[in-house]
Amino acid sequence: PKMNVASMLLASARRYPKHPALYFLGKSIDYDRTAREAARFANVLRSLGIRHGDRIAIMLPNCPQVVAATFGTLMVGAVVVMTNPLYKERELEHQLADSGARLIVTLDLLHRRVLSVKAKTRLERIIVTSIKDYLPFPKNLLYPLKMKRDGTDLTVAYNDEVLSWTKLLHAASPSPEIAPVDADNDLALLQYTGGTTGIAKGVMLSHSNLIANTVQNVHWAYKCEEGKERFLAALPIFHVFGLTVIMLQAVYRAAEMLLLPKFETKPVLELIARKRPTLFPGAPTMYVALINHPDIASYDLSSIRACISGSAPLPHEVQEQFEKVTGGRLIEGYGLTEASPVTHANNIWEKRKPGIGIPFPDTDAKVVDLETGEEAPVGELGELIVRGPQVMLGYWNRPDETEKVLRDGWLLTGDMARMDEDGFFEIVDRKKDLIIAGGFNIYPREVEEVLFEHPAVKECAAAGIPDKYRGETVKAFIVLKEGASVTAEELEKHCRERLAAFKVPRHYEFRQSLPKTMVGKVLRRKLFEEEQKGE
Ligand code: ATP
Repeated sequence: PKMNVASMLLASARRYPKHPALYFLGKSIDYDRTAREAARFANVLRSLGIRHGDRIAIMLPNCPQVVAATFGTLMVGAVVVMTNPLYKERELEHQLADSGARLIVTLDLLHRRVLSVKAKTRLERIIVTSIKDYLPFPKNLLYPLKMKRDGTDLTVAYNDEVLSWTKLLHAASPSPEIAPVDADNDLALLQYTGGTTGIAKGVMLSHSNLIANTVQNVHWAYKCEEGKERFLAALPIFHVFGLTVIMLQAVYRAAEMLLLPKFETKPVLELIARKRPTLFPGAPTMYVALINHPDIASYDLSSIRACISGSAPLPHEVQEQFEKVTGGRLIEGYGLTEASPVTHANNIWEKRKPGIGIPFPDTDAKVVDLETGEEAPVGELGELIVRGPQVMLGYWNRPDETEKVLRDGWLLTGDMARMDEDGFFEIVDRKKDLIIAGGFNIYPREVEEVLFEHPAVKECAAAGIPDKYRGETVKAFIVLKEGASVTAEELEKHCRERLAAFKVPRHYEFRQSLPKTMVGKVLRRKLFEEEQKGE
């Protein structure tokens, strides 16, 4: 496909103008209005001198403005820089300075943080919006994400640099104009990755990258019917998984998005029962939270036809239980920011196997030997490499880093995997999370799978911690199910029965919760660092 991503929105708005595009806090917004808001924002950007290739940062939780701001930016041929609203000053400054964003759209309750780093960036303007700009509702009904209810000052001092979203949009023309792009080479999105490791790098995704992955998802994973589907949008759109698998897919198929700024178990169950979404892309931790809710049986979840779980391994148990309560299909997807993000999906055919399934159409994948780079024999462990139209152009301003992961069109994923004789792939773990204990290689995920089989365990993580004799040793961090109890000795016994002795965790720590990223990925590295600090 050789087009601007933004044309997907206009196409859907032309065909389904009155069809609901967004549902947010009790109100629906149709496709016609959504497209006009995006066009207004594009015209605002034009009037502020924003041009093709300029970077526009968007720091918003899931809300109608994130859709308008994204598509409006793309209409101008400018580049979206999705920014995590939970970022603190240091992370925010890095991302804004690194991307060279000229303008940012953010919420009233976040704008002070932006102001405090502005001088160290190339930001010229801050456009401030509020959840209230779309829907009138009591001031404290909703504080997106983890913002504190009290003490957050929402007053904004507007001036030449701090501008009001509502005022600007109101004054702008709603007539849409889409800038032509060189779809294969022009950036649509700079998506920062590095939540779990090292310094955040900007992944350069072109218009073609995003369209290709949207189309692959629509036809391969979900078989999304035009004008008929309703997405539960609980994954953050500021993350590439939510962006492609929810927002772009929904807009491409003229589906409705039920936007949730925050994932909370009970409200999600209520929303499913009331608004009857058909598709629910999520992270494993979301499905875990739902199946463990004590009242799950009292909600009608039968509208859910399919889910795609991504961002971290999906425990088999969770998949089975979730399918039982919804009657829908839980697909396991695999991907990474560098691939827009999805490259593989499982459970789309009758033949079901654990693992991430087979590559999307148009996508090549193979497992290579870490040392020789040659393709590994069937069943052997090696690094997964992928090639396809969804693979990034490179890292922004980091040719050295790009060279490390892009070779002759192949993307080195950094994930250890194996492929079976039917061409089904299984992710074993991240290369960098490998634990080496007494010379033996241990993949934490294998240990986690075993711990997970214990009926008292709700969540768990295994991490390598320093050990005098073995270099490293395995420590298990456990969150128990409500009302369940188990001792470290019992868990150790459970592991001993199922794992080779060298893999059995020597240390156990029970916790109320585990540190996670925005898409619910357990931050093993954080656990590891905490251990080191504690020493
Ligand atoms: P980093 O900080 O290293 O960039 P990240 O978590 O921020 O990591 P993402 O692009 O969000 O980067 O995540 C991609 C990674 O998530 C994959 O490389 C893989 O390790 C993991 N992952 C995604 N889906 C699955 C899955 N189905 N099974 C196992 N691992 C998965």
